[in-house]
Formats: sequence, C-alpha cells, structure tokens
Amino acid sequence: MTLASQNSDPETTGAPDALATLDDSSESAASESSTATLLPSILDVSEDDLNYQVSQMGQPPFRARQLWRSLYHEGAQSFDEMTTLAKPFRAALEERYRISPIVPELELRSADGSTDKILFKLQDGELIETVLMRYGLDGHRRARRTVCISTQAGCALGCTFCATGQQGFRRQLSPGEIVAQVLHMRRIIRSENAELIAAGSAKKDEVTEITNVVFMGMGEPLANYNNTMSSVAVMNHAQGMNIGARHLTISTVGLVPEIRKLAQEPYQLNLAVSLHAPDDESRSRTMPINKRYPIARLMHACRDYVETTNRRIFFEYVLLDHENDTPEHAKKLAELLNGLMCHVNLIPVNPTEKGPYSRPNDKRSSLFREILTKAGIPNTFRQEKGIDINAGCGQLRARALDDAVEAAG
Ligand code: SAH
Ligand code: SF4
Repeated sequence: MTLASQNSDPETTGAPDALATLDDSSESAASESSTATLLPSILDVSEDDLNYQVSQMGQPPFRARQLWRSLYHEGAQSFDEMTTLAKPFRAALEERYRISPIVPELELRSADGSTDKILFKLQDGELIETVLMRYGLDGHRRARRTVCISTQAGCALGCTFCATGQQGFRRQLSPGEIVAQVLHMRRIIRSENAELIAAGSAKKDEVTEITNVVFMGMGEPLANYNNTMSSVAVMNHAQGMNIGARHLTISTVGLVPEIRKLAQEPYQLNLAVSLHAPDDESRSRTMPINKRYPIARLMHACRDYVETTNRRIFFEYVLLDHENDTPEHAKKLAELLNGLMCHVNLIPVNPTEKGPYSRPNDKRSSLFREILTKAGIPNTFRQEKGIDINAGCGQLRARALDDAVEAAG
C-alpha cells in the first residue's frame, strides 16, 4: 500500500497533514466478501473460547493452536492462507468469522518517513487512530518500532488540551479492535523488512519487528479495563505476538481504583500516569477527573503501585504555556515526586484546534526541566519526530515516553 508524502495544503487536508485515501486493492482485509463484514471478528474470540469453538467444530485441540498461531504469529489476513489447516475447516471458519474488525480509511506519513498515522474505520463506522513510529539505531539504543494504539473511540474524560477529549466519548473498543491495530502495523513493518531483505540491504536477523506498544492513542485504557487487559494477554502470548510485557505501556489519566487493580495483575507492564499539574487547583482546571480523584489520592495509589510491583511509574507532564509551566509548578512537582521511583516525561503541548494552549518557549521549558533535574527527579524532554502528523490527533506523545522506557532499561 502506498502512503502519500507530506502535503501541506490545508485547503485539501483540513490540517497540515498528508492525507492519502486508500485504493480498493490496498488492503485485503477490506476486500473480503461483503457478507463477511456482518460476521464477528475472530480476533474478538478469547483463547479459551477459541479452543471451545474449534472443538465444537469437531477438530482436535492442536488445530486451535495452529489457528491461534496463524492469526497472531503469522498475521494471516484470510482463512484461505492458513494452509496448515484442512480446507473444509478453513471453509467452516470462513462461514462463521471474519478476521480483522478494522479497515484503514486514511493514512498519513511524516515528511521524514519515520512515522505513520492511520485512521481506521470500525464495523459500525466509528473512527480511531493508530500511530507507528520507527526509530533507527541511536547511540547505545537499539532500533525500535513502536505502535501507539487506541482503546476507545473518543474519550469521556474531557481533558481541556486533548483533541480526543474535546470530541467526547463514542464507545469502548473490543479486544480484537485493540489488537488488530498492532497486527496491521506489524504487517507494514514486515513488508518493509521483506523489501529490505530482498534488495540485499539487510539480513534477516538485522531487521526489527514491532518492539513496543504504547496505549496512548484515543481513549482511556483503564476505563476499558477488561478489554484492555484481554488485548494485553493476546499481545503478550508466547505462541502469538509475543511482545514482552515490559515493552507494553499503559497510560492513564489517573483512575485510582483501576491503578490499584493493575498493581495486582501478573504482567510486568509499564504504567504511565498523566499528571500534567502538581496541585489540585491547576490540575482540576485542565483535567476534570482531578475532582473525582484528587492528587493526594492519586499519589497514594501511585506510591502503593510502586511498592507492590517494584516498578517505576512514568509521569507525563504536558507543558502548557503560562498554565502549568512556572518555576513554582516545577518546584511543587519535584516535592510531590520526592523519593518515588519514577521518571517524568516533559512534553510540549501539541496545540489542538479547539484548545487555548500553546507551547512554552525554550527558556521556560529548560528552566522547568532544570528545577526537576536539580531536585534529583529523573526526566526526559523531547520534541518527537513525526510531529507534523501528530498535530491532528494532538495527543500522541509516545516518543518521549518510549525514550524514557528505553533509558530506564
Ligand atoms: N487517556 C490516557 C491515554 C491517552 S492520552 C491518558 O490520558 O493518559 C496519551 C497522552 O497524551 C496523555 O499523557 C495525554 O495527557 C497526552 N496528551 C493529550 N493531549 C495532548 C496534547 N494536545 N499535547 C500533548 N500531549 C497530549
Ligand atoms: Fe481522555 Fe487521555 Fe485525552 Fe484526557 S488526555 S481526554 S483521558 S484521551
């Protein structure tokens, strides 16, 4: 499939983005027969249920394992290509299920080619965004391919600086809709890798697959807790996508009961908490959730989380000019996080169409950072690449987080 390169004509794009409408031949998931669109997605069938369904279809248990592997390890897009399965079984599956529940609608690629953003259409017409970021070898850091995924269509939490929040809540995504975003991006990476290998530019063991997934797209993952955790199980499954839990990062607005629940999960996930202000007055101004879970309660849950899991928390702090970026805010933030095993990601805001915010100038952000550093709070400040296509979404701050995760080992 082809992606348009940067087109900065706002007349045609509505934003300084490159927009490319996909042609019909570009996505075989989209070219399944029209009746297939009415069928449920097999990606929404849990492992246990798949085992059961396959046995109901008169197949031995190892067929379910082969099917699982075809779906999640090989990334099959049609039942037809699952040649390890007998034809009648494939035909029976085809009658009952479709594979992907999402179809790419629009694709953007950053001018430097490092970042793709895809707008997917769901079976009921809802739209979600997913981002793929490619990082080359960078000093001591290995090459990475990070996918930033959505967990809800829209979001109910109304953070004032967030484009998704400004649009309101549409609905929860199913586990299959969450996982399918990663599968799709992995296909793009696999075909790029295959091209490199075919051209002799890289050897098989030199190419990089998807290395990281960040739950930082549209929506609040912990407000869709069960489906998010089901998608984690699939991504983490050793016979499937096999992405280590330490390479999965869940970002939350700060839902206290769910942070406590997450601490009890068996996975060694990364947790990122969107803090964005160090005191209740400032935080409530931009994040309505702060009225339900004020900072003291949130920090209590965060400290318990670190104690229970022995894992650091990443705090995201979007810098909003003259709103949360004064030296006073920085000092309060340093006090709040004092002694906590954590890492702060400072992110200059991506101004959204409806929001009143702009980025602080370099002097203000450097001063803010310096105060944290002097107070001994580990932090990262980075203006990520691919910023030209992130602007439309206004929330894809994964670069800074990804770097921080890497820095933390
Ligand atoms: N709902 C979750 C995850 C999705 S938002 C959360 O809020 O954490 C992912 C991150 O992008 C959050 O830290 C969010 O605060 C941040 N974000 C939202 N809008 C932004 C903007 N306009 N500029 C920069 N970061 C933004
Ligand atoms: Fe929702 Fe996160 Fe945006 Fe807040 S920042 S509105 S929680 S998606």
